[in-house]
Amino acid sequence: MEHKMMDAIVKPIAGEGLELRRVPVPTPGPGEVLIKVHKTAICGSDVHIYKWNEWAAAHVKPPQVIGHEYVGEVAELGAGVTGLTIGQRVSGEGHITCGRCRNCHSGNIQWCNDHMGVGVDRNGAFAEYVCIPARNVIIIDENLDEEVVSFFDAYGNATHTALNYPLVGEDVLITGAGPIGIIAVGICKFAGARRVVITDMNEYRLDLARKMGADAAVNVMKEDLPSVMKSQKLSEGFDVGLEMSGSAAALNQMIGAMRFGGKIALLGLGASKMELDIKNIISKGLTLQGISGRKMDNWHQMSYMVQGGLDLTPVITHRYHYTDFQKGFDAMLSGNSGKVVLDWTSKKE
Ligand SMILES: [Zn+2]
Ligand SMILES: [Zn+2]
Repeated sequence: MEHKMMDAIVKPIAGEGLELRRVPVPTPGPGEVLIKVHKTAICGSDVHIYKWNEWAAAHVKPPQVIGHEYVGEVAELGAGVTGLTIGQRVSGEGHITCGRCRNCHSGNIQWCNDHMGVGVDRNGAFAEYVCIPARNVIIIDENLDEEVVSFFDAYGNATHTALNYPLVGEDVLITGAGPIGIIAVGICKFAGARRVVITDMNEYRLDLARKMGADAAVNVMKEDLPSVMKSQKLSEGFDVGLEMSGSAAALNQMIGAMRFGGKIALLGLGASKMELDIKNIISKGLTLQGISGRKMDNWHQMSYMVQGGLDLTPVITHRYHYTDFQKGFDAMLSGNSGKVVLDWTSKKE
C-alpha cells in the first residue's frame, strides 16, 4: 500500500539545526486522532532542540518531527474515538500522561511521573499532520483567532503561573520579558492587578511588555527598580512576584522588592543552584512556590480570557510560511522576537 507523505520540520541528527523533510503521514491507532495542522508557534524549548542542548539530547530521538504549539482541525479518527467530528477545530495538550501514577490519580497530571511530550519525546506538530491520543485533543471555539490559539501552550504556562495567587488589586512584579512573561503582563492586568511592573535587559521585549499593558517595563541595565517603584507609588513593595527569567540576580532583586507576606511563583529555570537572599525571605515572611509542568485544566480559562477582551496579538512579532521556518528560528535566536507563528495551510506566495 502506498503511504501518503507530508512536509515536516525534523531534527535530522543529534546536533544543531532542523530540516524540512518529506515524511509519512501518521496513521491514527485505536484511541488516537489525526489533526491537520493550520498554524504552529515556536516555543523556547524548540529553540533548545534546534541548538541541541543537554535537555534536548536526553529527550529527542533523531530523526524526529518536533513542535508542540499548534492549532488545526480533526482529519481522521482512530478506532473507538467518539465525541469528535471531522473538520472540528482543535488544539492538543502536549503532555501525554500515564493516568496511573500517584500524581495522575491525585489530579495533578502536570506532575505525571511518566509523561511524554509531543514534539519532544515523540513526533510533534511542525508538520502538515500530527497524531495524538483523543483524550489530549482540546476543542477550540471557532470565534478564536487561530494565530493566538497556536501558542495556547505557552499562554497556558503563563496562565498557570500568573493565576497561582489572587491578583485583584495587587501589585505584581514580573522578572523576565520572554514571551511567557509578556503574556503574563496581559493576564495580570486582565485579572485585576493594580500595578504590573516587568524587568528585563532586552529593550525589544520590554517594548512588547508595554504593548501588553505593563505599567512600567524596566531595563535593569539602565534603570533602578526602587526609583521606578517610587514613581509607581509602590511604597511597601510588591504583593505578588512572577519569576520568569531563571536569573539569580533577578530573583534576588524580586525578593528585595517584595512587601511583607509577599508571594512569589517561580517558573524560570536557570542554574540548578543559586545563592538566595534568605535573610529577606525569612524576615519578610515570603512564600516561594515552584511552578512545575503546566496546569492542563486551564484551556477554558485561556479561551474565556481572550473572548473577554485579553488581546494577545501584540505578542506575535513574526509570521512565516512553514517553508521559511529557518527565518522564524533565526528571529527567536536573535532574542528580538515575541511569538513566531508558522502557517501550514496556504500555498507559499
Ligand atoms: Zn511551548
Ligand atoms: Zn502519571
